[in-house]
Amino acid sequence: MKTLTLNRRAVMLTAVAGASSVLVPGGGGRAYAQTAPRPANGNAGHYRFQVGEIAATVLSDGVIGGPPSIYASDAPEATLREVLRRAFLPTDHLTLNLNTLLIETGGRRILIEAGAGAMMGPNGGRIFDNLAAIGLTPADIDTIVISHTHPDHVGNLRTADGGKAFPRATVFLPKADWDFFVRNDPDLSYMPVPEDFRRRFGAAIKTSLEPVTQDVELYEAGAEIAPGLTTLAASGHTPGMATFLVHSGDDQLLLTADLAYHPVVNVDNSWLPGPDRDKETALASRRRIFDRAAADRIPVLGFHFPFPGLGRMLKTDDAYAWVPANWQF
Ligand SMILES: [Zn+2]
Repeated sequence: MKTLTLNRRAVMLTAVAGASSVLVPGGGGRAYAQTAPRPANGNAGHYRFQVGEIAATVLSDGVIGGPPSIYASDAPEATLREVLRRAFLPTDHLTLNLNTLLIETGGRRILIEAGAGAMMGPNGGRIFDNLAAIGLTPADIDTIVISHTHPDHVGNLRTADGGKAFPRATVFLPKADWDFFVRNDPDLSYMPVPEDFRRRFGAAIKTSLEPVTQDVELYEAGAEIAPGLTTLAASGHTPGMATFLVHSGDDQLLLTADLAYHPVVNVDNSWLPGPDRDKETALASRRRIFDRAAADRIPVLGFHFPFPGLGRMLKTDDAYAWVPANWQF
């Protein structure tokens, strides 16, 4: 009897995992066959929600990643491994998502962060498919706002043949990052990565931004970019990094950019991201912004957090805890 039950269960699980047709319980004790449409490229990579009157959509550009110690630079090795193991994460590689956000406000379609494209490995560049999935093309984007000029935030600005990937868009960049990374040859020796990676990282920034040089608007953190979109100073990770507040009526959404890479290592544990250029200033920015999110219970979007990256910061006795938002259908 027991064997029979297990077999039935095994058959059902196989059917669900592999099939486009599953039986779901219906009303009145009947069962309906439901055929789920399946996007050609796998699961959905976009997620719609509202911030007051503002329509918002997280558009995934895919994922990047690397050795966990890069993102938790002061974590003791054994402790980091144990924390990752307990969180059911691999101990040799940390996956980071690329959650760009499209908002529609003041008659403009504004993309916050451009994503990595091919600049940081083979698993970026999905934003174009995800735009198409919601019926838009790159030419529909009016404005792009970048938190900081690291390649995973600007990589998609350039097409493979060197053109503008978003032909109509005005690109807003923090002035201090433009001065540091683009107008000068930055000293990147603070980054805990091999020398040739640093060189390619610095070159990728200039290459990505080259096609939009004529369309760049440089902003100082604190500036309002559009009705309902304000930049907030959060320097430290880079000289000019900003975070963003999207607001409409009583509703708000706080975008934390790269104040944290992954909630397990930079929120639930307060380890310092290795790529932070000025770690003390970055830590102060992180605390200031996280405290505001926790105190005002503001919904948060983490650019690199597990898709769609939405949740809240909970203040604990000595740190914070990340609480993912419930999925909305
Ligand atoms: Zn980043």
